[in-house]
Amino acid sequence: MKMKLTVLLLLFFIVILGACNASNNEEELIDGETENTITEEVLTVVTTTFVLEDFTRKIGGEHVDVINVVPLGADAHSFEPTARQMIEIMEADAFVYNGAGFEGFVDAVLKSMEKEDVVALQASNNIPLREDDDEHVDVHEEDEHSDENLDVHEEDEHLHAGVDPHAWLDPVYALQYAKNIYDLLVQLQPEFEEQFTENYTNLKIELENLHVEFEEMVSTAERNQFIVSHAGYGYWEQRYGLEQIAISGLSPTNEPSQRQVEEILELGQSLNLTHLFVEQNFTSKIAEMIADEIGADILYLHNLEAATQEDIDNGENYISIMRGNIEALKQGLNK
Ligand SMILES: [Zn+2]
Repeated sequence: MKMKLTVLLLLFFIVILGACNASNNEEELIDGETENTITEEVLTVVTTTFVLEDFTRKIGGEHVDVINVVPLGADAHSFEPTARQMIEIMEADAFVYNGAGFEGFVDAVLKSMEKEDVVALQASNNIPLREDDDEHVDVHEEDEHSDENLDVHEEDEHLHAGVDPHAWLDPVYALQYAKNIYDLLVQLQPEFEEQFTENYTNLKIELENLHVEFEEMVSTAERNQFIVSHAGYGYWEQRYGLEQIAISGLSPTNEPSQRQVEEILELGQSLNLTHLFVEQNFTSKIAEMIADEIGADILYLHNLEAATQEDIDNGENYISIMRGNIEALKQGLNK
């Protein structure tokens, strides 16, 4: 009996001691965290695309460190983060991604983040996303006002698999991206609201000017159709009436069928297209073959998904790259 009591008492002390330790640890943790929020003035934000990286830097200024996980020149659609990058994301203050099905890896990241203290922002929030018309070749035939019009619409109806994630290429929607990032930064660091507001306002003015420049370019263009390596430019159709004839689907890995390639060839020939656009972050052998076949010159469009080393060396940003796109279109949409 005595033995039992001693054991019980011992157990009791162990439990009490354990509890004290635990609460001490907790207190230390809470103290540590409070200290961190007061002293740590620079936020770490992890982004997935060049446009998100650029906007976060622009609005956050010196108060934000931005790490972009997708390497230079890579294809963010099919990119997979390394284990080290996953840790980098989990240790950040915020994770800013495009969403809308753009980054194939994002669901896995969001799942791992559930228990972490990272704020996630889907930057395409509050944007009316266009539906994914995966039959990128057929849909453009619709604009020829042919007898097939009805067929195309019928076909469209069962192709609503998802949405087109490339909304940032429309400067008006890009402003909404900027607003979403601005709101996030103010939420995380309200003490710097004034600076963030000033930076955001400057970016807003630049984006509004860019929209006007885009409209001006389109108003003087001789044509409104263009062939491009992947279907990243659907938002220009909606906003400016420019029609992409895309070789690959919404993701560059969605390669066209032989029939689709033939259709693009025919379309390019019948429209007498003198130029064909390829992009900065992946090569398209099919695009080069089509250009060769229809006797078109190759021009570059930048989809802003990922920057190249050259972009970084030249200090390029969203605005300067979009101006480059406007210049390329000026050439490509005129005979
Ligand atoms: Zn894309």
